[in-house]
Amino acid sequence: MRQFDDPLAAVAAELFLPMGVDGVYARSALYEDVVERLAAYISRQRDPRAEVLRFPPVMSRAQLEKSGYLKSFPNLLGCVCALHGTDSAISAAVQRFEDGGDWTGSLTPADLVLSPAACYPVYPIAASRGPVPRTGLLFDVAADCFRHEPSRELNRLQSFRMREYVRIGAPAEVAQFREQWMQRAPRLAEELALPCKLDLASDPFFGRVGQVMAVSQRQMSLKFELLIAYYAGATPTACMSFNYHQDHFGAEWGLRDADDQVCHTGCVAFGMDRLAVALFCLHGLRPARWPQGVRDALAL
Ligand code: AMP
Ligand code: ZN
Repeated sequence: MRQFDDPLAAVAAELFLPMGVDGVYARSALYEDVVERLAAYISRQRDPRAEVLRFPPVMSRAQLEKSGYLKSFPNLLGCVCALHGTDSAISAAVQRFEDGGDWTGSLTPADLVLSPAACYPVYPIAASRGPVPRTGLLFDVAADCFRHEPSRELNRLQSFRMREYVRIGAPAEVAQFREQWMQRAPRLAEELALPCKLDLASDPFFGRVGQVMAVSQRQMSLKFELLIAYYAGATPTACMSFNYHQDHFGAEWGLRDADDQVCHTGCVAFGMDRLAVALFCLHGLRPARWPQGVRDALAL
């Protein structure tokens, strides 16, 4: 059976080992070394004022619900379930499995979901600290993310790494933060010798109402993406995104400044796995032979 429905199958075979589910892979040392160097490269771009937080792959279900995720992307969400029953109910579920039956009917939702993006947990943390300072807040966050979008394509994983810089503050500050990153990102891609294009984008909002939300998101220019084609003629892959949430998270979490104005938020997201795959696809499987500028940037 072919693991990857992709012209890049040969590249994939060196980077990923199948784990029995589409879009979920073990990663080779060759690949992981580049992901780590890429993470260090992104850290070197960090504003010294940013607070660094690293999140686990799970987050509070209640917090994600409050963030409005179910309205926008219910189809992508993964929820942690557990056997919450009495010892005898749990034993009965296991026994059903042993007997060749189904044990999963006894599962019920835990208070955790798999984080679908790295920035969701940061807003309640910031809100819990009281009024947002006049200069706003800046965070560097990262998490292993899950989205239920099984695929055999190399650029669409169910479990992937996301790194983000997140800005919380007055509308003009957040707009400026995003603008600066949109100017900077193509230069970083150039340093990594990754031909790219910056383009207006929308999120894959769920359902019919979602289509309307996507149109309005585009009309208001709330999302841009940095797109990289993995090979000549390939449909470009979104490897970074530049998002302006307006007052969505500020209003939901009560993020207010000293003048009691609701804060705006924005984030710039780096798809670590998509960027790493782009490097291998475009420069080959031997980092020692990558262009000198790229090797310098990644300290290879
Ligand atoms: P988004 O919140 O959709 O803008 O995602 C932020 C970044 O995460 C994207 O620009 C991608 O680089 C990366 N990403 C999103 N979905 C996936 C996926 N299914 N597999 C790998 N990377 C992804
Ligand atoms: Zn974000």
